[in-house]
Amino acid sequence: MSPSLVRGFHFPAEPITLRPWTGSPAGPGVYIEPGVLATPETVAIPFTQPEPGVVRLAWDPEASVQRLVTEAYVPAGRPWHSRLAVPSGWIPSAVREALLRASVAPRLRAEGFPGWPVESLVEDIRTIVRAAEAASGRRRSPEPLWPGGHTWAAVLSHDFDSLDAFRHDRWKALAEIEEAHGLRSSWHVCSEHLPAAFRALETLAARGHEIAWHGPRHDYRFAFRPTERIRREAAAAALSLGAFAPRGFRSPNFLRTPGLLAGLEDVFGYDSSARDTAAELFGAPGRQGCCTVFPFFHGRLLELPVTIPDDLSIRCLYGDDAERIATVQAGKLGWIRSRAGMALALTHPESWISVTPGALKAYGKLVEAVAADPDAWRALPRDVEAWWRGRSGAPT
Ligand SMILES: [Zn+2]
Repeated sequence: MSPSLVRGFHFPAEPITLRPWTGSPAGPGVYIEPGVLATPETVAIPFTQPEPGVVRLAWDPEASVQRLVTEAYVPAGRPWHSRLAVPSGWIPSAVREALLRASVAPRLRAEGFPGWPVESLVEDIRTIVRAAEAASGRRRSPEPLWPGGHTWAAVLSHDFDSLDAFRHDRWKALAEIEEAHGLRSSWHVCSEHLPAAFRALETLAARGHEIAWHGPRHDYRFAFRPTERIRREAAAAALSLGAFAPRGFRSPNFLRTPGLLAGLEDVFGYDSSARDTAAELFGAPGRQGCCTVFPFFHGRLLELPVTIPDDLSIRCLYGDDAERIATVQAGKLGWIRSRAGMALALTHPESWISVTPGALKAYGKLVEAVAADPDAWRALPRDVEAWWRGRSGAPT
């Protein structure tokens, strides 16, 4: 049986109280106190009390959260660029940036669901379930969310998109910022770059960083290949990266399908291609995302969503403005901390994305904030995977 998506979450502040409610023609329900949830309005959640000590919600929170985290609410469709035969690196960075500005930026700025940069719905549902458990008198003490008495988790990761990142050692600037604060991170590499990448990867691994996979090549098609082929390519990559004991994957350009996740299962331990809230390049209209700042399972594969606004999204909104980048990231970090969640950041060691003066300055501030907080569990993705599997009773 899959671990529950709604039970066992407890947040530092749990201000929701459930009160009998008879003010609606829909019948009995509860009030959620105004201002507690993301919406300022009072939200009515129907429930029944079939017997003392039992609170039965008249909806299925488990199914609701399942639908949200798997993004089943997003209109189905395959983006046109996923049929392009060219790797994304063949497209000049100025053109890619212009496309992002045209396609992604307006949808990040618009009103809509999920909210950007914060969407609290899944965490709100979990809080309601916890309050219902308390009202029924059956509330148990759940396992700690994070180890060692830490109240939230902070994870840093990077994707190598091009050979340029190795030829010019672009990764060094980001690694040095982290190491100066005693932090380490994960680095996702494409198989096609391995001959040029190997020495850099060995250096990173020797310095305590994690190496993970970023697909066979940096194109737009991998997620749409047949599952069997994906599984074969994943197994080959696990072998060629064997010296680094790889556990994780992130899809090039964030493109993901159920077939992709099925192909990765049992080859890798975690995927980190989802974002909690984002606009996808030429994807479904509006925004999408898994709406949670916690890990969750796709079958046996654990998902570790990117939850700090990623550098590509930020670049197309704010250019290289260090102040604005730092402000939006610090705001999200603070919100994740308040919900005891996992802050997972993604930066690219590429000349046009995160290795620019403003982006590097902003990254320094983010790393500093993480390093300065004794409540943060500063972990590699593979450590979060091992912890969450153990906490969920899921096999390794
Ligand atoms: Zn990439």
